[in-house]
Amino acid sequence: MAKESLQLMWLQSGGCGGCSLSLLCAENPDLYTALASHGIELLWHPALSVGPEDGFLALLQRIVRGEQRLDILCLEGAVMTGPNGTGAFHRLSGSGRPMMAVVKELAALAGQVVAVGSCAAYGGVTAGGGNHTQAVGLHYVGRKRGGLLGAAFRARQGLPVINVAGCPTHPNWVLECLAELADGSLTEAQLDPLGRPRAYTDTLVHHGCPRNEFYEYKASAEKLGQLGCLMEHLGCLGTQAHADCNLRLWNGEGSCLRGGYPCINCTAPGFQEPGHAFTATPKVAGIPVGLPTDMPKAWFVALASLSKAATPKRLRDNALAEHIVTPPATPVERP
Ligand code: SF4
Ligand code: SF4
Repeated sequence: MAKESLQLMWLQSGGCGGCSLSLLCAENPDLYTALASHGIELLWHPALSVGPEDGFLALLQRIVRGEQRLDILCLEGAVMTGPNGTGAFHRLSGSGRPMMAVVKELAALAGQVVAVGSCAAYGGVTAGGGNHTQAVGLHYVGRKRGGLLGAAFRARQGLPVINVAGCPTHPNWVLECLAELADGSLTEAQLDPLGRPRAYTDTLVHHGCPRNEFYEYKASAEKLGQLGCLMEHLGCLGTQAHADCNLRLWNGEGSCLRGGYPCINCTAPGFQEPGHAFTATPKVAGIPVGLPTDMPKAWFVALASLSKAATPKRLRDNALAEHIVTPPATPVERP
């Protein structure tokens, strides 16, 4: 008997829509081919769907009455619970109901719940700047479990909310997660301590960064646009940020670092408010405050001063240039 397709509903709440735009950049395969090949049917997406004929609210009612299965609920954007916990800042168009209540109702019925993007996961950008809308993530508020659904929440199939965090998310992080849900291979052990799929968070952004050689010798850029490592002066958090952005490139060839911008650790709760400019490295006594994950401070300081003393001229020159000014030496044999 043919397997029934999985019914996926994608809702948008307090976000910018960037995660949907990113999803549309999926290639090899594209979004629709990927969903079809994993047996997933897109029941509804606010920007991509034209149906159902009787309207979105009727579809919601069918789900609530049990006439329509809901296998996967994806939410993009934080849930705005203000003012005073009423959710009235954001009402579902045409119904007058707070979106907060709709999301809660659907999450209780869904087989799996996926928070797409750091807003839906932890509050993200929407929760920044004093959080006047009282934005929360589905299962977290910042680093604290709870969020809209409460710390004990489990979806019908038993998993907690899966936080495909990122701002935006890489299309393949989302599609890979959906594929694993479709074939039943995603277990709780494959989620990291912040509920993110380890398929992309067991790696650091630093891994595969083309500036690695500059990092090793602490040959640092001093201005954006220069080729050197961006950690010492320009705020790069790639050595602490969990994501595979420099191994699984964006649009086939890009990443923030490859575009010349420091990593801002957008897959982590609270990234939106580092307390300083994104392109500044806070230091105490000349030592960066945020040191690489897993590296004791004393080691870092010792290694940094050793490697600075040994920096090849080529790296020193190129670190402060916008294009390679000193190429690697090519040994030649003289006649
Ligand atoms: S996580 Fe970032 S890109 Fe995605 S909806 Fe929120 S603000 Fe937009
Ligand atoms: S720029 Fe950032 S990610 Fe790249 S090597 Fe330096 S610290 Fe690592």
